[in-house]
Amino acid sequence: MQSLKDKVAIITGGNSGIGKATARLFAEEGATVVITGRRQDVVDGAVREIGRGAIGICGDVASIDFHHRLAAEVRERFGAIDVYMANAGVINLAASETVSEAEYDQHFAVNARGVFFGVQTIAPHIRDGGNIIVTSSLAGTKVLPNHTVYAGTKAALAAFARNWAIEFKPRRIRVNILSPGPVETEILGKLGVSESNRPQFEQQMADLIPAGRLGRPEELAQAALFLASAGTFVNGIELHVDGGMCVA
Ligand code: NAP
Repeated sequence: MQSLKDKVAIITGGNSGIGKATARLFAEEGATVVITGRRQDVVDGAVREIGRGAIGICGDVASIDFHHRLAAEVRERFGAIDVYMANAGVINLAASETVSEAEYDQHFAVNARGVFFGVQTIAPHIRDGGNIIVTSSLAGTKVLPNHTVYAGTKAALAAFARNWAIEFKPRRIRVNILSPGPVETEILGKLGVSESNRPQFEQQMADLIPAGRLGRPEELAQAALFLASAGTFVNGIELHVDGGMCVA
């Protein structure tokens, strides 16, 4: 029995990493998935890879117009949706003293504002009894070197999600937070760590994780599937999927 049979799910940042692995798993479980990202060619490639009627819609989550366009397209095609996963995110590691206004604004525009207005715009199109997953980060609760601004954005969206769990009570829409630790995705190449220092950086991360390794996108996808389907009595939680790094 497919756990998301006949459901419609939107996954922002579904063209890469955790979002793409989740889109693939949701599609295998019977959902029609709508994935987003800014890079048209990467969105198109992911749509082909996921198959099963997946749809790609390109745009920048920092733009409120994009969320309105996405909502309109999805309403026209499907009428309503069942699962919204606000997952797109950016990170650039930097010590606070070196962070520029532009870097600060970009992090908050994508990771916090993008999630807030995405949910505000899409929520009216979520069927009563549906659910929302926001991808936060271990960095939102645990202090990690040079993560300050990123950590602030992720703590903000986790706070939004807890409030939404109550605000959406009349519509029985569950809202949960998925909090990855370090996971092997493209994002590791966008941290501002040089290619030559990457192996050492990743080994240092792995050494901090009781599991002794980084996570795999598929492991996050399984957790997202639980929140989206079987976890029918799970609401307002932050699910840490980090090999135990949150307690290390
Ligand atoms: P990823 O492979 O780099 O994916 C990031 C996704 O976000 C891409 O699909 C990217 O697509 C999209 N994106 C970035 N900026 C966007 C924007 N302005 N508008 C629309 N889409 C945008 O990284 P990932 O690891 O899967 O990251 C997914 C989420 O997990 C992020 O929120 C990240 O903060 C969180 N996370 C990841 C880790 C980790 O270690 N991997 C740990 C903790 C939390 P385009 O580039 O095509 O726009």
